Amino acid sequence: MWNLMLRKFKMGRLTEKGGNSLTQQKSSIPSSFRQSLQARHLDCGSCNGCDWELTALGNSFYDHQHFGIDFVASPRHADLLMCTGPASTQLVMAAHETFEAMAKPKWVVAVGDCAVDGGVFKGAYASANGMGEVLPVDVKIPGCPPKPEDIINALLEFMGKR
Ligand code: SF4
Repeated sequence: MWNLMLRKFKMGRLTEKGGNSLTQQKSSIPSSFRQSLQARHLDCGSCNGCDWELTALGNSFYDHQHFGIDFVASPRHADLLMCTGPASTQLVMAAHETFEAMAKPKWVVAVGDCAVDGGVFKGAYASANGMGEVLPVDVKIPGCPPKPEDIINALLEFMGKR
């Protein structure tokens, strides 16, 4: 137990620093979307690391609802498609169908290195090299996985709140 704690203390937090490496391809959205964005999360073959960081956005510390951002169960209700994972071959059709089910205007966010450019799965036989090969990605949030604050900051920047 003590050895485990000591190892964890020495290792520190494994989440990578996102810092200034945020890439945003679109700087603004219509003003009617700036107060409230509904997001649908789509796992496209991630290791679940990024998914857990997205889950952390809902806790009382990060509290995405405080910023007018919410996650919805159906793509029909979503403005934003937040994708994790490199787009594994089996999930490409699901990604297309989800995107098609969303009403316009709609945007795609690639969350994590895998979704940005394939990450650790780059060049793998069973996946694309990132969501950009499958859907029109508007915002890229690098990191393996990105920190929740980097995800929130990217969304606020996209909403024109930062
Ligand atoms: S970016 Fe890292 S944490 Fe996110 S899905 Fe890929 S390997 Fe997992």
